[in-house]
Amino acid sequence: MGEFRQARWVEPLVFEISRESKRGHRFPRMNGLLKAALREALKDMPENLRREKRIDLPCLSEVDVVRHFTRLSQMSFGVDTGLYPLGSCTMKYNPKVNDAVASSDSIRYIHPYQPEETVQGILEIMYTLSSWFAEITGMSKFSLQPSAGAQGELTGALIIRAYHKRNGEGDVRDEIIVPDSAHGTNPASAAMAGFKVIVVPSDMNGCVDIEALKEAVSSRTAGLMLTNPNTLGIFEERILEISEIIHDAGGLLYYDGANINAILGKVRPGDMGFDIVHLNLHKTFSTPHGGGGPGSGPVGVKEHLKDFLPVPLVDFDGERYYLNYDVPYSIGRVRAFYGCVDVLLKAFMYILIMGAEGLEKASEISVLNANFLARKLSEIRGFSLPYGKDKPRKHEFVLSCSDLKHETGVTARNVSKRLLDYGIHAPTIYFPLIVKEALMIEPTESESIESLKEFVNVFAEISNEAYMKPELVLDAPHNTSVSLVDEAAASHPKTMCLSWRMYKSKLLSGERVKG
Ligand SMILES: *Cc1c(COP(=O)(O)O)cnc(C)c1O
Repeated sequence: MGEFRQARWVEPLVFEISRESKRGHRFPRMNGLLKAALREALKDMPENLRREKRIDLPCLSEVDVVRHFTRLSQMSFGVDTGLYPLGSCTMKYNPKVNDAVASSDSIRYIHPYQPEETVQGILEIMYTLSSWFAEITGMSKFSLQPSAGAQGELTGALIIRAYHKRNGEGDVRDEIIVPDSAHGTNPASAAMAGFKVIVVPSDMNGCVDIEALKEAVSSRTAGLMLTNPNTLGIFEERILEISEIIHDAGGLLYYDGANINAILGKVRPGDMGFDIVHLNLHKTFSTPHGGGGPGSGPVGVKEHLKDFLPVPLVDFDGERYYLNYDVPYSIGRVRAFYGCVDVLLKAFMYILIMGAEGLEKASEISVLNANFLARKLSEIRGFSLPYGKDKPRKHEFVLSCSDLKHETGVTARNVSKRLLDYGIHAPTIYFPLIVKEALMIEPTESESIESLKEFVNVFAEISNEAYMKPELVLDAPHNTSVSLVDEAAASHPKTMCLSWRMYKSKLLSGERVKG
């Protein structure tokens, strides 16, 4: 196993290394023409929006900036550093060529207010991309506006509401059903759109309990939100039956497509009976995530819901591409302009390069990798695979270390921290809630057999440590730039320190600031 040591720089904030005299770049002096233009522009600016005072930006040389950010990057961990098996997040490698295209000048300098005839190229790309998404998912039309999976869900939930309202049932259909294994954003989005959330339990096989579902549906059912394969990585085989139950009750089916990496080219949500879908481009389609964005969560619908999509849609009239605002029952805009165009472009490039066969192959390998790990890891002492040890998984699986906890005191949290010491990012833990001491693992197709075997070896080593020298695991991580964090203090409003302004006022008031 390779030695892993993360850098441990004692790195001050940029504000702390700032010196008045330092400059990284000097803007050209303003000429008379520019000055006059600026005066002219300021004339119309309301008094209360003007700022006379100088803003407190740090003053740094180029060397300061480069070293500062290089050091910080050495203290963090990403998909480009090593294995990142964060379940439900599809942290796969994102080909750099797509970044290069997305940041080319012809893309960077387009402005959303340009006249349509001057941006036909990017509109064509967006139109083509949305038709590819429609084909991949079995929907008929996509909006590329939403900026995240959760925003896609909210958009979908608002479409469900608008649809029932249009049918004169806006007040009666006020319930959305979600399984107890759902991603937390599902019930949150439904509630945000004004629905009451009804939770249905999972059965012994980790799938929706059909009997419980039958009991949960009624004339108040507006829809069901489901991800398939579910968060246990198990494919809901009775999906057609589920779809029939919901449709017979007058509800709509929403597909949480964050897990589409598992089924690309194999099966389509549209063919499973779903009416609305969102995709997470920042998981499956070549945009990294985890740092807060930008992301993209396009939403697709079947023919009968087309007229409810957000405006504008990108359309083609046979001669030119245009922004279509003529959508009769549109829920309106959900985002400024037309979506995160750079992320859309990377998805376009990714699909173009992979082709239909490539996408299918990626899915196959991601599933193969997950099943290889599921089998190997569940054979290690202290770990088990609940909900059917021999049942095949799709892109991910949920391991439990309940036995390890009872026998050694080492928890899922401890194991995940210890993994960091071996240069492997922690998996998602304690989710879904239906598995005790859960470690949710998604290796993705990017990992080679060598790196998967190394992962298995590391797990076996951690299991040994837990039984022989539990302190080693309980106090982990040891080799990272930041040691075991006091999670309660880190997230408590009293101790949390999120900005330079907060930090400074805490320092001034003499409070102790935790790093
Ligand atoms: C990631 C994820 C989401 C939410 O996506 P965001 O872009 O983080 O808002 C929703 N559902 C599932 C299953 C996910 O994995």
